[in-house]
Amino acid sequence: MAHNITLIPGDGVGPEISEATRRVLDATGVSIKWELAYAGADAREQLGELLPQATLKSIRKNRVAIKGPVTTPVGSGFRSVNVALRKELDLYTCLRPCKIYPGAPTIFKNVDIVVVRENTEDLYSGIEFEKGKAETAKLRELVAEATGDKVKEDSGVSLKVISESASRRIVKFAFEYARANNRKKVTAAHKANIMKFSDGLFLATAREVAKEYPDIEFEDRIVDNLCMQLVRKPQQFSVLVLPNLYGDLISDLCAGLVGGLGLAPGANLGDRIAVFEATHGSAPKYKGQNKVNPMSMMLSGVMMLRHIGEAEAADRLEKAIAGVIAEGKSVTYDMKPDGAAVVGTSQVADAIIEKMRG
Ligand code: NAD
Repeated sequence: MAHNITLIPGDGVGPEISEATRRVLDATGVSIKWELAYAGADAREQLGELLPQATLKSIRKNRVAIKGPVTTPVGSGFRSVNVALRKELDLYTCLRPCKIYPGAPTIFKNVDIVVVRENTEDLYSGIEFEKGKAETAKLRELVAEATGDKVKEDSGVSLKVISESASRRIVKFAFEYARANNRKKVTAAHKANIMKFSDGLFLATAREVAKEYPDIEFEDRIVDNLCMQLVRKPQQFSVLVLPNLYGDLISDLCAGLVGGLGLAPGANLGDRIAVFEATHGSAPKYKGQNKVNPMSMMLSGVMMLRHIGEAEAADRLEKAIAGVIAEGKSVTYDMKPDGAAVVGTSQVADAIIEKMRG
């Protein structure tokens, strides 16, 4: 029976990499009935909404989606479509494996880190107070009354919200993932030395959850130290679990360790619904140029195949992608920082399909 899957091309370079990804997924022979849905700039043009109800409905019905990136203009009025999607569908885990494929452009060796990022709260709660607004003045009064601290009159404020329940479920996910995937250590990152009641709560909860998993080593790192250690000796880490903002930053750092954003897949997971997408954004300056690397979205597709129970096809596709990386002939510009000859997005898909036919 065919798998019904929602395909959201996104905007910027999204449509190009989505098309390349759909082609390689179809070439695995797994029967997939694609349901196209829209989000982002293209959705606004066609349907008048950034995140149409029809898109949410399609994902809720199919329970599995794969999505291209979507642009969020910096500092403008509307909130991120990506953040809205994750919150709306309660996709509380962002899972981002970062491993080195031989031939990838990196100076590091043997890196195989899985970043588990909390996806619903922290500084992404969307609770913000704009400079000069009446509600911001009220907040300043409340802070002065409750704590005696003074918030400057010309301040804007974004709330960092961390709950025990969301911390518990993300740390549990990290340990369960470690157990299921034969990983021996979970590292929690935080800044609990400074933010005692938000990151402090995250850390205390992580320590409590860790006691339920005596078979897996647990350690914690202050996030600035983690950054330094990741670039010095990344091999010491296996599963990282982090609140939302640190998780966002650290997953880009880890993508850099393994060869760049073109090789960094991801999944947003809830209890019932999974939305697969690359770590990178819509890279608008490359839109429509058949230039960027589709492999991060394709590797997100590999994760999706495993999720829907098509492990053998997933292995075949991953092997073909790894083969094309190792050969280094049909890869995009980001894989050849030395300026050697490269191909475009759709030619990468051709080479991978060729490899699978093999
Ligand atoms: P970006 O990840 O889009 O791109 C940064 C740079 O990384 C690009 O200019 C390019 O040099 C490189 N890059 C990214 N993807 C690549 C690929 N597949 N192959 C080769 N090189 C690649 O980050 P940005 O420019 O900061 O963000 C652009 C937009 O994307 C913003 O509006 C941002 O909000 C949005 N964004 C969306 C998502 C998502 O949809 N999940 C995630 C991150 C950022």
